[in-house]
Amino acid sequence: MAPLSVRSAQKPAGLSIAAEQKIGQATSVVIPLAELGAMGYVTWVLVYQICVQYLINPSERMQRDFNVRSQRATGITLIVVYALLLLLLLVAALRLIQMIWSRPDLVPLGDPSSEKMNATFNGFAFDQYDAFICDYQGVPLWCDKCQNWKPDRAHHCKELGRCVRKMDHFCPWAGGIIGESTHKWFMQFVAYTALYTTYVWIVIAIFLADHHSKMDSRPGTWIGALVTAVLFSLFTVTMSGMTGWNLTINYTSVEGIQRGGIHNIAFLISKTTQPPISLPPTPPARNKHGELPDGGWPVLCTTQRNSGKRYVVMQTRPLEHPWYTTPMMGWKDTMGKNVVDWFLPIRQSPCKQKSRRGEFEWAELVYDMARTYEANNPGIRLAILEGVR
Ligand SMILES: [Zn+2]
Repeated sequence: MAPLSVRSAQKPAGLSIAAEQKIGQATSVVIPLAELGAMGYVTWVLVYQICVQYLINPSERMQRDFNVRSQRATGITLIVVYALLLLLLLVAALRLIQMIWSRPDLVPLGDPSSEKMNATFNGFAFDQYDAFICDYQGVPLWCDKCQNWKPDRAHHCKELGRCVRKMDHFCPWAGGIIGESTHKWFMQFVAYTALYTTYVWIVIAIFLADHHSKMDSRPGTWIGALVTAVLFSLFTVTMSGMTGWNLTINYTSVEGIQRGGIHNIAFLISKTTQPPISLPPTPPARNKHGELPDGGWPVLCTTQRNSGKRYVVMQTRPLEHPWYTTPMMGWKDTMGKNVVDWFLPIRQSPCKQKSRRGEFEWAELVYDMARTYEANNPGIRLAILEGVR
């Protein structure tokens, strides 16, 4: 499987990039408007037609001819619960849209005239980190469309024509890009939408059956609202499950598609007793099962940057994810450290706080790579293990 850097540089086939961007931008306006229309429609059916006209205040003809009795308390309770669920959904949606429109996750564009090898870091912190994702020579990943370096886990979004930090996916349903700053609000948005739509179709289904048993008919508008709510419910329940699962395993959707690929990681050398570092230039030979002789990780090279900092470049094995921690840590990394944060669309995700170790908290496997390297190379110390050896 190709590494991230190679895949992200592939050109999309078929439509031109400009056409894809226009389509993406148009759908991100049209689809949210259609969602608003659907919401208005089911509100009219559930609140007005079912709760007000059927339950709270049935007509004299319905009472006389079909023995439909007023169920005032039921109707009011259903409206109150509906309003609460709608409020939660709207607050989550507004928070998500506000974050999407403020575009906090777009990586700055580089100088179009600059070449990769002499481009500056343009404010990026690679040189401040103990480890970062790189290519086979220990150079940070580069986007040739943005003409700039890519922070770890960033991906080029073809709809926006820009690299996006910790990009998950471009979501026309939410009107834009889901990435580092919006993933939490997206999770809340789909979960509250799932709750809302599930409530709507259950209520409509119950009273559609009731209407049929008493009046021997099923109003077309009720059936239309039921079908609409069921379809949205199926979609958002599935999306909630998938998004929640990805958060617990700390995969973005892009990384999920690329699962099985390898990552090259540059580890900052903090101390060495060997001034001109001489290390194995090629990975050690693997046995017939594809395993390394000491059970370790391939060491690709060592490199020295202009700053004088030296790095050793190692490679993960297939299916190893450098950011997998534990399900609860993965969830909290995006959703927040305490339970209240999981439900309220207020605080930003903890993963936006960077440490000196890297753009994101590394998996234990990355520390194990460093420990194995130190054990095999006495006298060399890697910065990432300082304080955690
Ligand atoms: Zn890019």
